[in-house]
Amino acid sequence: MALWKRMIGLRQANPEWFCSHEGCNHLGAADTVSITYLGTAGFVIKGAGRTLVLDPYVSRPGVVDTLARPLVPDTALIRATIPEADDVLIGHAHYDHILDAPDLCRQTGARLIGSDSTIQVGRAAGLPESQLRATAGREDIASGSWTVRGLPSRHGRVFGRIPFPGDITAPPPWPPRMADLRHGLVLNWIVDTGGLRIAHIDSADFINEELAGQQVDVVCLCAIGRQARPDFVKDVVRLLKPRWIIPCHWDTMLTPLHEEPDLIPGVDLPGLLNEILAAGCEPLLTPMLGVQRFPARLELCPL
Ligand SMILES: [Zn+2]
Ligand SMILES: [Zn+2]
Repeated sequence: MALWKRMIGLRQANPEWFCSHEGCNHLGAADTVSITYLGTAGFVIKGAGRTLVLDPYVSRPGVVDTLARPLVPDTALIRATIPEADDVLIGHAHYDHILDAPDLCRQTGARLIGSDSTIQVGRAAGLPESQLRATAGREDIASGSWTVRGLPSRHGRVFGRIPFPGDITAPPPWPPRMADLRHGLVLNWIVDTGGLRIAHIDSADFINEELAGQQVDVVCLCAIGRQARPDFVKDVVRLLKPRWIIPCHWDTMLTPLHEEPDLIPGVDLPGLLNEILAAGCEPLLTPMLGVQRFPARLELCPL
């Protein structure tokens, strides 16, 4: 059954899986931070005067084009879906995390921020050096009045092995083929708006020691991690102590953005959502292009 239809069924049966923070509904735009899910591991975080984008991938070519042809970003769709961005953060340089980022940066003037491999991709697509910001992680980077910080991480295994491992050490062909885009350094991002802290885990593994001590409010969490690593959810909650978790990377990313997505085989969404609840957090299962609203400062919304 298509995922969207499944989700409607799930909503009727299990409303607690779809908690939205109703307590924020009285707050105006200046007092809220919104998080929009773009599919795959893509998100737009928007607060007063600031728009950050993580791992944008809305072009989503079909399976034949993905496997057999160079991957061409859909410029018009990127413009229509993400009209503005101040900074674009990349968790790792696989195609489903980075393909649309250089185009988005060119259209908006945003900086592309990520590993050395990410920067090589920006160069390949023709971005000027002034829009490229490399980081090895463990440093605070100012983004307007917000702060972003990459934490070194690990790529998860898919069917027992890490796909397209290694670094991109020179600008790859552009448009690239899937295999040209190796993952490079993997970074888990912490976005601190000054009132709300958001973590982004875009692959199926992480390093406990890097996450330890990073108390956050919201985690955008790769759903396939449960299959790849024991105690995936439990460890995230223990280390980051979030209140809300938004699952991502549960769809096959092979369907057009505005069509019903397919669920990646083996992703057990009900199992994941129950595990989040059991760990004491509120799951926010968000459809493609769905928006979650949070208080810009937690004290604005004591609920
Ligand atoms: Zn990957
Ligand atoms: Zn991925």
